[in-house]
Amino acid sequence: MYSPDDTIVAIATPPGPGGIGVVRVSGCGARAVAEAVGEPGRSLKPRYATLMRVRSSAGIIDRAILTFFPAPHSYTGEDVLEISAHGSPLLLRSLVEASMAAGARLAEPGEFTFRAYLRGRIDLVQAEAVQDLVDAVTPLQARAAFDQLEGTLTGRIAEIDAALLSLTARLEASLDFPDEGYHFVPSGGASREIGELVVRIELLLQDAGRGRLIRDGAQVAIVGRPNAGKSSLFNQLVGAGRAIVTEIAGTTRDLLTEVVDIEGFPITLVDTAGLRSTAADAVEAEGIARAHAARRVAALTLVILDRSRQLALDDEDTLAVTDPTRRLLVGNKLDLAPAWEDTAFGGEPILHVSATTGEGMATLRHEIAMRLAGVGASGTVQRDSPAITNVRHVELLTRAKAALERGARAAAEGTPEEFVVSDLNEARALIEEVTGTRNAEDVLHTIFDTFCIGK
Ligand code: GDP
Repeated sequence: MYSPDDTIVAIATPPGPGGIGVVRVSGCGARAVAEAVGEPGRSLKPRYATLMRVRSSAGIIDRAILTFFPAPHSYTGEDVLEISAHGSPLLLRSLVEASMAAGARLAEPGEFTFRAYLRGRIDLVQAEAVQDLVDAVTPLQARAAFDQLEGTLTGRIAEIDAALLSLTARLEASLDFPDEGYHFVPSGGASREIGELVVRIELLLQDAGRGRLIRDGAQVAIVGRPNAGKSSLFNQLVGAGRAIVTEIAGTTRDLLTEVVDIEGFPITLVDTAGLRSTAADAVEAEGIARAHAARRVAALTLVILDRSRQLALDDEDTLAVTDPTRRLLVGNKLDLAPAWEDTAFGGEPILHVSATTGEGMATLRHEIAMRLAGVGASGTVQRDSPAITNVRHVELLTRAKAALERGARAAAEGTPEEFVVSDLNEARALIEEVTGTRNAEDVLHTIFDTFCIGK
């Protein structure tokens, strides 16, 4: 992937001016960079922040805080230098150039974290958690990522791996001493022990749906005929919990999107053009087409119905094209006199809100969260952070579980141990791929390529 022996440098803070900006250097040449950039003759005490003048080819350019972390007690496990200077992009660039003149090269995206993984400071789950933590837009997302960075998932996976290793070793020992039969594993013991491991993996996986929702979020489209109150409702939902990031690829003029924190889930709300069968012009027709496209990809569609006016053909059409299992009927304008009864929808539940007064909005938010998390109407959404949030982990653990189940069946049926051992070995390989104890180069690429430079 990248050469791990070079000394690398990058600006670790976001682009643009700021109060401070940090340049990070890692590798065996970090000390030489400190000498070239810092004040001549001043040494840096390990892990102590030292204020000094810093230089580039242009001479002294700033006063900055330099911190030197000797290997292995650093983020990457290598010698690391951090320069906290004033956050001027020009200044930070000169510091990077000065570091390069002293022997460093520009870091690739994710290379600092990749080195931390290579040097055994963190495992793959933790490396992924670094990126998730940096990208988090809701507190629950950040919390789940931080737990993984702290090693909670790593610990649980390591326990399963250790139990699996012990069982495999005992079964293999039995194979090596055939005369003693199941001496190291009592009769029936193997399938029972494997069964226990299956349960432990199931426990990890059981919350994975909610975990993925916390990490990756979901799209919710708001549809309805013109004037039903879609924009008002969008604003209500956004006003209560606007998340930080608003930039969504493909955002168009007529599809207004916003990421909103709904009970911990980062939900991309999409406000769409009013749906009606007869568009006034080509622009409106295009808006309607996009509204349908948004509705089709959304995990959940809110169908907004104006409660104060008779249901119209356009409402019927909207109901006809939306999937009842992926929609939530919302009767808006609760503050006005109703023009229809709830029974109009064949028993399908409908939530009543007023986008003007805000009445019913808390229930609506809760219902959105429950529907997305796959919790029934009476259930509650848990607020703690789930163990697993990442689809890569879900996939590997699901396959490991299947291999173990095969092994348990084989053991129960008295199949020769070598077949059981082979299933267990397959499960171990999959489990170890989660944390990166074993990993193919392409997996590493996929993970670290999503990082930004300086991480
Ligand atoms: P859209 O075309 O579906 O996006 O609808 P708007 O959000 O623009 O609302 C259409 C009209 O209905 C506006 O005049 C809103 O002020 C009004 N409106 C929206 N929600 C409510 C509500 O809950 N109660 C009342 N009384 N008026 C509402």
